[in-house]
Amino acid sequence: MSTKGLKDRIAGFAGKGLRLAASAKFEVALLGLLLLTAGAIAGKDQLLGRTVVFTPQNTTRNAHLVFSDGDAGVGGKTATYDKGGLKWDCDLHVQHPYRYCGYELFLDGDRGIHGLDLSNMRAMRITMMYKGEATSFRVHLKNFDPSYSIRADDESPQYLRVEADTTPGKLQTIEFTTADFGVADWWLRKHRLAPQFGRPKFDNVTSLIFETGTEAPVGHHSFEVREVLIRKAILSDAQGYLLLLGMWIVMIVAYLGYRVANLRKALLERQTLEALALREAQEAARRDHLTGVLNRRGMIEAFDGMAGQRRGAFDLAVILIDIDHFKALNDTHGHDFGDKVLAAFAGVIGRNVRMQDMVARWGGEEFVVVCADVDRRGAQKIAEKLRERVEGHDFGPCGPVTASFGIHWANGAQPDLSRMVSLADTALYAAKAAGRNCCRLLRADMSKAA
Ligand code: GH3
Ligand code: MG
Ligand code: MG
Repeated sequence: MSTKGLKDRIAGFAGKGLRLAASAKFEVALLGLLLLTAGAIAGKDQLLGRTVVFTPQNTTRNAHLVFSDGDAGVGGKTATYDKGGLKWDCDLHVQHPYRYCGYELFLDGDRGIHGLDLSNMRAMRITMMYKGEATSFRVHLKNFDPSYSIRADDESPQYLRVEADTTPGKLQTIEFTTADFGVADWWLRKHRLAPQFGRPKFDNVTSLIFETGTEAPVGHHSFEVREVLIRKAILSDAQGYLLLLGMWIVMIVAYLGYRVANLRKALLERQTLEALALREAQEAARRDHLTGVLNRRGMIEAFDGMAGQRRGAFDLAVILIDIDHFKALNDTHGHDFGDKVLAAFAGVIGRNVRMQDMVARWGGEEFVVVCADVDRRGAQKIAEKLRERVEGHDFGPCGPVTASFGIHWANGAQPDLSRMVSLADTALYAAKAAGRNCCRLLRADMSKAA
């Protein structure tokens, strides 16, 4: 195959593909939405995820607090050393049975009540270094809920707690999810809230607390948190699925709307085509198929239409035309040729009447011309002109063709076509009797019997 041929074939395939894609718009959209759904479900955390990172460097402006059982009112003797930047040391003292020390990082600027919404937290990854003899450490999140928390009371926000093992002397990374956090027992006991407030909430986390673990041994403990990385989703799973469901509903509604609009359009097109076909059929039924002029039925309808629009008397001429010796023409040149002469004859008549005049094939080789608003003299002139044009027309090998014209003119209201044609026929009879190829206006002394 030549390069051009190959190119044409490729272009043909591409064109076909594009046409197919255009005609399958809905299928393409459906496939797109299916892929989007699958992709969104598989990679929802990555797609709609956000990461929040706390490091010693980016938390310098956050308030923090190093605390212990040595603080006023708690009754212990633990000493703490605040080194800033998520670093602190403490010497746990034997004095207190539940000895502890920790570091609280406030997540909102002013230790206030506007925390982070971690409801859709997927993971919290803490990288830290611990030195000491403790085998575990704790992490607390404080969630401020205005229905029971007050700013003045540090312990009124819900305490969410998780405990993990330490790897002393080594940099360790540990990851939690919201499911790992439980509401701290002491907090539940202290506040005695209705059961629904005992469930963990993460919608307004105001601080992050690192603390020594349960039964931490007496002695020196050193903590250094290098990074806290929180991965959270913009939407919850339920919201994500709701969004997808919404997209599907929109797609289905749009498709149904599109289908209904298309069906309506197709119906309208069909109705238009049917109306057109009906009009064409009606028009064809009013025309003589051989000559293209009106047939008798068409003339009657057109005549009734014209007469129906008029009020009172008006001038009207009916001219009945009959081709002379047409039988002989048929006999000599054949019926088919006779047909051609008939068509050409109708053409000559049609071209030589006024726009508003009506021409019909009345039957066989007879034609009728109806001229409204023309006086008696004018009607005769029209007929004479037609006769001359027929006589002068070249109909081919048959030589000159002539016709005879019978004219009936009247001025009246509500004219009767068949009566006028019949009277024009009387005048035509006179024209034939006078030797053919002439026009005769109906006179009172004329009769077919004469
Ligand atoms: P006259 O001058 O007296 O009118 O003579 P004529 O031969 O024209 O009249 P006649 O009535 O004897 O013959 C009319 C002929 O017209 C007879 C018929 O075969 C022919 N004719 C009628 N309709 C058609 C048609 O559709 N096609 C053809 N080719 N001939 C037709
Ligand atoms: Mg005849
Ligand atoms: Mg004739």
